[in-house]
Amino acid sequence: MNSTNLIQNFGRNLTFKPKHFYSPDNEAELLAILQDHKNGKIRVVGSLHSWSSLVKTQNVLIDMRCFNRVQVFENNGKTQVRVGAGCQIKHLLKALNKQGLTIPSLALITEQTIAGATATGTHGSGKHSFSHYIESLRVACFKGDESVAQVVEVSDGVELQAARCSLGCLGVIVEITLPCIPQYFVQEKATFCETIEGVLVLEKKAPLQQFFLMPHSWLFLAQERVVSSECRRRGLAGVYRVYWFLVIDLGMHLTLKLFASVLKSKKLIHFFFRRVVPSLISPRWVVTDRSDHALVMEHELFRHLEIELFVTRSKVSAAASFVADILQFADDANHQLSPSTHERLQKADLLDSLESIKGQFTHHYPICFRRILPDDTLISMASGESEDWYSISFITYVEPRDNFYALGTFLSNSMFELFQARIHWGKWFPQTAEQINQLYPNLEEFRNVCRQFDPKGVFRNQFVEDKLSLK
Ligand SMILES: Cc1cc2nc3c(=O)[nH]c(=O)nc-3n(C[C@H](O)[C@H](O)[C@H](O)COP(=O)(O)OP(=O)(O)OC[C@H]3O[C@@H](n4cnc5c(N)ncnc54)[C@H](O)[C@@H]3O)c2cc1C
Repeated sequence: MNSTNLIQNFGRNLTFKPKHFYSPDNEAELLAILQDHKNGKIRVVGSLHSWSSLVKTQNVLIDMRCFNRVQVFENNGKTQVRVGAGCQIKHLLKALNKQGLTIPSLALITEQTIAGATATGTHGSGKHSFSHYIESLRVACFKGDESVAQVVEVSDGVELQAARCSLGCLGVIVEITLPCIPQYFVQEKATFCETIEGVLVLEKKAPLQQFFLMPHSWLFLAQERVVSSECRRRGLAGVYRVYWFLVIDLGMHLTLKLFASVLKSKKLIHFFFRRVVPSLISPRWVVTDRSDHALVMEHELFRHLEIELFVTRSKVSAAASFVADILQFADDANHQLSPSTHERLQKADLLDSLESIKGQFTHHYPICFRRILPDDTLISMASGESEDWYSISFITYVEPRDNFYALGTFLSNSMFELFQARIHWGKWFPQTAEQINQLYPNLEEFRNVCRQFDPKGVFRNQFVEDKLSLK
């Protein structure tokens, strides 16, 4: 935020100016703010790493950065951590590591606040979302009396399921309690595969695996990851980290930005993915490193925009083939869709909408697939199924983003119809209320909890009112 109270998110697709901006120091100040604005509209901001309009408000915005305490304690023989809502995950990890501990799940970056990350069901690969692990929360809200702000503890039942992934709709999260696990090390190895079936088989021996579909070569690259039995770095892990930072985090991203954004060259992008990328990654390099080094990358170095779709395991192979076909069609107007894609689109009456993407966009970033175990929340993207979920993410560095938005909208609509795909709440979000109603069987329960915690809708903005039909 700058001195004129102008708020801009990481992706700079969201800019707004709240009338009031507060950063309370303690609970008493927070409750006084809520009390003063009990007839207004309040939203909370984390570290602004969402692309959806979740934080947008014209009225009151609260920043919880001063609530950043980390307190480890024992509870019935279990080690837990009580962490202030505004604590960034990187600070939490640092504090825990000093005690030989960590949290059960990690995402690709650690810039998010703990409340922001859990509010949208943030996830990594091979584990549940962060939200799932929350043991209890303290929430400042109007539960029980719409005219008196108070802090309530949420620790079980449907209230906990709602609060674990709340999109900021229950009130202001003040503090979160999570389980701690002993710090662990992860062994990683890169493997190229011709088919998604080949990649999925590897999960048996590498449960933390994430994998990429490489555009234009259409090969899969698996990062086979498994918890190591040893607690030390191996395989020149330090050199690997430096190599990864210079070659992938910096080199690959700068090259892609240059080819896609500056030179706008389809041929160079094709050449890069077909000829250069396979030579950047050595399948022989097996590395073991601490979890927060092995599972995290510097993905926040360059501004970008992302949409991420979630499908269940039984649909992921078909979804991957569909995605590859559609991206080729978006890249080349003469690409012949496979008979199965054509048939699927015809059945869903979506052939006409293909015109909006035909030859319009050359995808220029590896498409990341991550496995998320079904979680115990009401509305996170991985909620409510017995099957594992797979997230499929699409990133662009190109601006203006109109052609990417057209592609994202097409993928959102078609993958909703064909694979019942859900979209990450924190990422670019074209899904409609009607689609959301069909995708989340526990949505009405979530709405009910929202109404109890916030009877007058103080904590709702346009985005949640529209998308969740929460009036
Ligand atoms: C570079 C990059 C990499 C990413 N990698 C991943 C990834 O690996 N996996 C993944 O799942 N997602 C990822 N994301 C998405 C990101 O984790 C989510 O969008 C997350 O919600 C952002 O957290 P934040 O702290 O920035 O919160 P914000 O974006 O500021 O806010 C998100 C939501 O949290 C609410 N909120 C924040 N604090 C509170 C509070 N105290 N009380 C109540 N509500 C609150 C806000 O109102 C809003 O609804 C990534 C995003 C970026 C930009």
